[in-house]
Amino acid sequence: MALAHNLGFPRIGANRELKYALEAYWRGEQDAGDLLTAGRELRIRNWQQQKDQGMHWIPAGDFSYYDQVLDTTAMLGAIPQRFDWSGGLVDIDLYFRMARGRAPGSEPAEACEMTKWFDTNYHYLVPELSAGQSFSLASTRLLEEVDEALACGIPIKPVLLGPLTWLWLAKVRGEPFDKLTLLDRILPVYREVLSALKARGIEWMQIDEPILVLDLPSAWQLAFASTYAQLTDIAPKVLLATYFGSLLENLPLACKLPVAGLHLDAVRGGDEFLQAANLLAADQVLSVGIIDGRNIWRSDLDKALNRLRPLVAERGDRLWLAPSCSLLHVPVDIEQEDKLDAELISWLAFARQKVAEVVTLTEILSVGGAQPTRLQQQLSENHQALHSRRNSKLVHCADVTDRAAGIDDKLAQRQSPYRERIEHQHAQLRLPPYPTTTIGSFPQTPQIRRLRQRFKQGELNDGDYVAGIKTEIAHAIKEQEALGLDVLVHGEAERNDMVEYFGEQLDGFIFTRKAWVQSYGSRCVKPPIIVGDVARPQAMTVDWIRYAQSLTDKPVKGMLTGPVTILNWSFVRDDQPRSETCLQIALAIRDEVQDLEAAGTRIIQIDEAALREGLPLRQRDWQAYLDWAVRAFRTTTSDLADTTQIHTHMCYSSFNDIIAAVAAMDADVITIESSRSDMVLLDAFKDFAYPNDIGPGVYDIHSPNVPTVETIVARMRQAAARIKPQQLWVNPDCGLKTRTWEEVKPALANMVAAAIKLRAHLKPHPR
Ligand code: GLN
Ligand code: ZN
Repeated sequence: MALAHNLGFPRIGANRELKYALEAYWRGEQDAGDLLTAGRELRIRNWQQQKDQGMHWIPAGDFSYYDQVLDTTAMLGAIPQRFDWSGGLVDIDLYFRMARGRAPGSEPAEACEMTKWFDTNYHYLVPELSAGQSFSLASTRLLEEVDEALACGIPIKPVLLGPLTWLWLAKVRGEPFDKLTLLDRILPVYREVLSALKARGIEWMQIDEPILVLDLPSAWQLAFASTYAQLTDIAPKVLLATYFGSLLENLPLACKLPVAGLHLDAVRGGDEFLQAANLLAADQVLSVGIIDGRNIWRSDLDKALNRLRPLVAERGDRLWLAPSCSLLHVPVDIEQEDKLDAELISWLAFARQKVAEVVTLTEILSVGGAQPTRLQQQLSENHQALHSRRNSKLVHCADVTDRAAGIDDKLAQRQSPYRERIEHQHAQLRLPPYPTTTIGSFPQTPQIRRLRQRFKQGELNDGDYVAGIKTEIAHAIKEQEALGLDVLVHGEAERNDMVEYFGEQLDGFIFTRKAWVQSYGSRCVKPPIIVGDVARPQAMTVDWIRYAQSLTDKPVKGMLTGPVTILNWSFVRDDQPRSETCLQIALAIRDEVQDLEAAGTRIIQIDEAALREGLPLRQRDWQAYLDWAVRAFRTTTSDLADTTQIHTHMCYSSFNDIIAAVAAMDADVITIESSRSDMVLLDAFKDFAYPNDIGPGVYDIHSPNVPTVETIVARMRQAAARIKPQQLWVNPDCGLKTRTWEEVKPALANMVAAAIKLRAHLKPHPR
């Protein structure tokens, strides 16, 4: 009989209870006791619910007050020096100081760096290592939560992040050294925890080693066997969990580890689990991640059953079923979406529904002959839902698919090469050398937020709302003219979010009310869902830009979000390749670009903030992704007059590996983040002669500090050492929406002053 289990459940709560408890604690409105109580209630509710739903093994240790990687860091006592830790157990305030730099009643310190967890939109806190560092058990939170669950009679499977993945994700501070040399110091702490779990009578535990889906150096591959040999003798039975991809060359190695079971992602890892079934010993458990833990669609149960059936007889209760990965990456419960159409709801499955799907599959597989009516009913509901989605007019629009099928390479090509285009653009725009501009958004004041909110809630009519936004646009234009910027923006006051704003106006998108997914700490995002073919019924930004342009003689940039970013920050259809959905979005954005040009917009910026983070985990898959991503971007910009200048913006701190693809996008100007890395990012441009114009961000908009004229000049000089001055623009490193006008004005004034200085020293050269 196959068993149902889960790798992790969302911890934020169906109503973001954890978010509110955390923030109340941080603001000093509640004490630590209240926060811990809120956490306990959430855990118990999640466990109880999964138990009631019929899960055989339920994860414990998947909960976190901030981040599971930080929890492991605390467990190992890997506390960076600046936190003045004196040993003992890490308390909740030290924990929050590491996470966010401050905690009630403690001295602030520089927070740990945050970065994306594999290819998800979840951010973890990066562990820091120094040579000769020691480790000791400094948090027993996992053991306490295990005791809590046992006391409630929950059949739990404790979850721990594996030592190799933790080390892999860590960064070295100070003198560089091989971090793998620290492994032997870490393992004793793991052994201490594992034996404590065993002493509690825990039968199974789960150790996550998702780095097995990455390209690993051989030293890291080799380390797996010795590591697990040292852990498993004192531990409960270990289920080694991998997810987010196939193991490929790491599969034989993983199947030979001395662990009691292996979990594979059968959604992103294809049919690798069938291979694993042959490689694993007869007494090892094979856990198949058959339900998609990264997306929100209801599964096709028949398809899943067909994939699993070959294994049932041979593996018996050594076949486990689960979601592909932790359900951390999906919202909690579709039942909460009371405003969505019932048909639409029937197509979706959030965490709770995915748990139910896993249980249903195991039940069906466990019945030999005729299915009991209850299961038959569930299957027929599943058929109905899939049928309705497959045939829905909300999903399929022949005009869109025909158009996408009909596009050829010409549609991804501008009329002339950059060298010719830029001459025409110079002649028309007449910008000075080192032109100054900003990235798009200006401060989102409480007033602006209130305006949008009142409109959304129906308290403001169209006319009053439009008038309100126009006032904000006029203000932004006036300020930019006073500052003396060369290329202006309208300020994005009408946008709450750079993806949501477009999704709301495009066909094929739906929006939920409560489908929150944790992004980091207490922060959640509510990604749009792309349900169907994407099209643009009418212009989305043209009126705002036209109005802004009417107020000034300086060029105002049209401001759009690019297709790859819209795709990467949404839940995407699973019934067609991502590349196809991306192309549809590109065609919709293309329509907007054309309308902007027709309305007289001379410069159009198309942001691709999320292009880099969409890179596949394995390098061998990069080129295919970059090919279709770049093609989608280029599709948005072809057929324009040579005089129309296309900008794009990307906020990355590492470019070297994708620079050729960035160049292939063929935007006339790119603006990038580079100030935080002190322009080292520009090293990529030393080895690769980037052909087009470029604006390396000259100051960090994430900080309230005002950059001096001298720093900006110095930064631009660094840039000019690598890139021809005629190609350079001067701009901040990202949008200014999180700043205040008091911060923005002096910073931009210094930026303009710096550009004037730079121009004065420039040898005469026509732009
Ligand atoms: N145009 C957007 C803004 O200025 C770009 C934001 C981003 O790249 N994240 O806000
Ligand atoms: Zn940015």
